[in-house]
Amino acid sequence: MHLYQVFRSSSTLAGNNKRLQFCPRCGLAFAEKELEEFARQTCRQCDFVSYLNPDPGITVLIRSSEKKILIGKRSSTARYGNKWCLPGGYIEYEESFIETAHREVREETGLEIRIEGIVNVVSNLLDDYHHTIVIILIGDVAGGRQQPGDDLTELRWIDRDQHERMDYAFAADRKIIDCYFQGSMRVLPIDKRFEPSSSAV
Ligand SMILES: [Zn+2]
Repeated sequence: MHLYQVFRSSSTLAGNNKRLQFCPRCGLAFAEKELEEFARQTCRQCDFVSYLNPDPGITVLIRSSEKKILIGKRSSTARYGNKWCLPGGYIEYEESFIETAHREVREETGLEIRIEGIVNVVSNLLDDYHHTIVIILIGDVAGGRQQPGDDLTELRWIDRDQHERMDYAFAADRKIIDCYFQGSMRVLPIDKRFEPSSSAV
């Protein structure tokens, strides 16, 4: 099986669009064109270096007992609005990625989950401002009451045929769900010490 791990829908350099006007530490104006090979600006006054890195996120494949997958429709005001995606979001600085998965699934679907493991990691060079690195997890429902929340306005359990017809926000989601329905997915177990006890069944 081929593992798809890099998705690029932008042809320009994000760094050029993320150039800062002023040093965030001391306020000195950055030189107009100052940018190194890897999109860095360095302050001539305080030596502050502006590093640009991808934003880390998680998504979760949640399975039903009939082996369907849960996806959500993004609100019309969200980026890539009215398209479908797997539940997920950005990792906060204070969280482990496992904690993020539980929080995001709870916020977006109302469900508590039991995470089985990691199925892939992908780079999404989405557009000139958004470059994410996403850990994809797989798990099952362990409780809660299903209700769309946060940026999702509708939830749907899909089988393979329905999956083929969905309009997805992210190419990576389509590929990972393809892989699931092909039955070719391998799972790396997660560190169970960081699983919240509330998700245990
Ligand atoms: Zn400075």
